[in-house]
Amino acid sequence: MSEDLVATHVLEFPGGYTRTTGPVIGRFLTELRDRRLVGVRTAGGRVLVPPLEYDPDTGEPVTEEYVEVGPAGTVQAWAWVGSPRPGHPLDRPFAWAMIKLDGADTALVHAVDAGSPKALRPGLRVRPRWRAATAGHITDIECFLPEVASLVAPVRAEYRVTPGRALTRFLEGVRDGRFVGARCAECAAVYVPYRESCPACGSVVEEEVEVADTGTVTTFAINNLPDPRAPEVPFVSAYVLLDGADTPMIALIGGVPAHEVRQGMRVRAVWVPPEERTLSMTNVKWFEPTGEPDADLDESSGGGA
Ligand SMILES: [Zn+2]
Repeated sequence: MSEDLVATHVLEFPGGYTRTTGPVIGRFLTELRDRRLVGVRTAGGRVLVPPLEYDPDTGEPVTEEYVEVGPAGTVQAWAWVGSPRPGHPLDRPFAWAMIKLDGADTALVHAVDAGSPKALRPGLRVRPRWRAATAGHITDIECFLPEVASLVAPVRAEYRVTPGRALTRFLEGVRDGRFVGARCAECAAVYVPYRESCPACGSVVEEEVEVADTGTVTTFAINNLPDPRAPEVPFVSAYVLLDGADTPMIALIGGVPAHEVRQGMRVRAVWVPPEERTLSMTNVKWFEPTGEPDADLDESSGGGA
């Protein structure tokens, strides 16, 4: 995985929110302050970490059941950062890694202070290093460190290949100014970002579909504390349900005062110029209002799932 590729996850990482109108991320951050990691259980029984308001697989609201996870976990995939930039969590080479905490069904992205890329492998066991003072922010965890003296967890083979490929396919589309989704032949659900298997029915998803770069804000958060990965404060992060998709994606909202952002607002992607694009979500500067009348959220869901 390239650095750009993983940076996408980081941009979308809900833990990056410093304040939210929704209770789910708020609970996650409050628990972080107390040095606990929690996920939220979906109606289907899976544990999402970081927690989301909606099950990304079904679009259904999650339950109100929070589950303590970790604090240790397993590295699934990573990108080595040989030259950290200002705003990165560590000032020495490190890895951005997808870490599945014990008890979680999804991975979060955080820094792993591994010393050398040679120290990384799928299944590597890691533990968080907490900051001395916590503030209810994802950076309360300075980074994760390899567990030195513990048993190596067995590696499940599918982790080695599947997480990267579907995301790469999605990012190739984003580089070309398109949002590529995948339609399940069995249940017709359209997933954006693209994915290779249908979490709803288990089918292999092979049909690629392009969805619009317009959509509707379903939920949003106004962030009042600076974040190196986002525009100046206050900035708005939101779930945007792209037209033609059945699951929302996380995005930044721009070109509008934060207090004017609302549920149902129609938005369009603002793309960076083609010559500046990379294989990453930074190709989308943000979403800005289209000026259309607000959508009825009940009717705007794509209809497949
Ligand atoms: Zn399906």
